[in-house]
Amino acid sequence: MSNIKMFLVRYAEIGTKGKNRYVFEDILCKRIRTRLKSLGEFDVRRDFGRIYIEALSEYDYDEVTERLTKIFGIVGLCPVTVSEEFTYESIREAVMDHFEDTFADSGFDFSFKVHTRRINKGFPMNSMEIDMEIGHDLLEKYESEGLHVDVHKPDIMVEVELRGDKGYVYSKIIPGPGGLPVGTNGKAMSLLSGGIDSPVATYMVAKRGVEMDAVYFNSPPYTSTRALEKVEKLGTIVAQYSGPIKLHIVNFTDIQLAIYDNCPHDQLTIIMKRYFFRVAQELSKRNECQAIITGESIGQVSSQTMQSLAVIDDAVEMPVFRPVIGMDKQEIVEYSQRIGTFETSIEPYEDCCTIFVDKHPVTKPKFYAIEKSEKRLVGIIEPLIEKALENVETVILK
Ligand code: ATP
Ligand code: MG
Repeated sequence: MSNIKMFLVRYAEIGTKGKNRYVFEDILCKRIRTRLKSLGEFDVRRDFGRIYIEALSEYDYDEVTERLTKIFGIVGLCPVTVSEEFTYESIREAVMDHFEDTFADSGFDFSFKVHTRRINKGFPMNSMEIDMEIGHDLLEKYESEGLHVDVHKPDIMVEVELRGDKGYVYSKIIPGPGGLPVGTNGKAMSLLSGGIDSPVATYMVAKRGVEMDAVYFNSPPYTSTRALEKVEKLGTIVAQYSGPIKLHIVNFTDIQLAIYDNCPHDQLTIIMKRYFFRVAQELSKRNECQAIITGESIGQVSSQTMQSLAVIDDAVEMPVFRPVIGMDKQEIVEYSQRIGTFETSIEPYEDCCTIFVDKHPVTKPKFYAIEKSEKRLVGIIEPLIEKALENVETVILK
């Protein structure tokens, strides 16, 4: 890909935000700059409702495209070949180089159409003439290899743009993740466990432009350091898309033991979740997060029945969002495979929930019953929560 010195970024939704559009574009540019920083020197600029990334130094094409296609807000990425001179000869050469770079590996057996746009009308030929000449030149070179014209439904649209005193040629769109650039929609606190669901939930919310913090409730020695490492690994995978995630690690052992010692065991999971939420709410306030995110899905386990979710929600005033709420397990699994968290999620380290679960947990908890049980914790649990909050360990995952 030696001739690809530039990428054109396609973005859909942020183009529809009216006046805010510039804000969105600027944030997307900033995200791109940050992600490319360690890979070379790049000029990222906004120009006529487009974002261009120009390589100013040597760079690794595969590495750069891999990073760019994980940035939320990018719908597609077009590798561009630039004609530095504003002459037909130079533009023709750029098209030929572009074809070699882009299709030599896969072959030229496809249909195409040339589509020229003259933003600078000073060019001596009009768009249609350029389309015809370029088309003719391409056929002359590649027709014997299967290349043919289809003006109605071409496999490949060869775009030639004449802007300023340069020509830009692109044809291929590498799909990006879509969504909105992170940093355009506030901040949330995700309850991140080592399972399959919560990394997907975290990804889904980040994809809507939300900056993510995460909290993991750790119960040493009942849970191993391997379980924590697994959560960190999962957060790091999601951070490749979302940008850095601040992970708050809360030592939950004493709180969990207090619940275990004082409350009916069939209510343990529900009460524990309520304390997860209370601690998460406090951490949210301290870190300016506006919502709590979990990986719960209706009916998946006893603590995720409608009644359980309602009772858990009741523990906090903040909004709680559960992006995978209506998804089947298989759908969540497929999603996690697509974003690359699945293989890590299925590594076999227990999280704290699996150790303190009762054989017959309540599936239809009653508010008053849970509240009554929690009364037994008054005077015991407050100092434990305070201590847990005082000792939160924070790591930045990136
Ligand atoms: P996951 O696959 O995300 O682990 P799960 O199917 O195992 O979810 P539960 O264990 O009931 O379901 O957890 C439901 C949600 O509660 C999780 O998706 C996660 O958001 C949160 N959660 C559970 N355990 C922890 C933990 N140790 N630390 C932080 N959050 C947790
Ligand atoms: Mg779990």
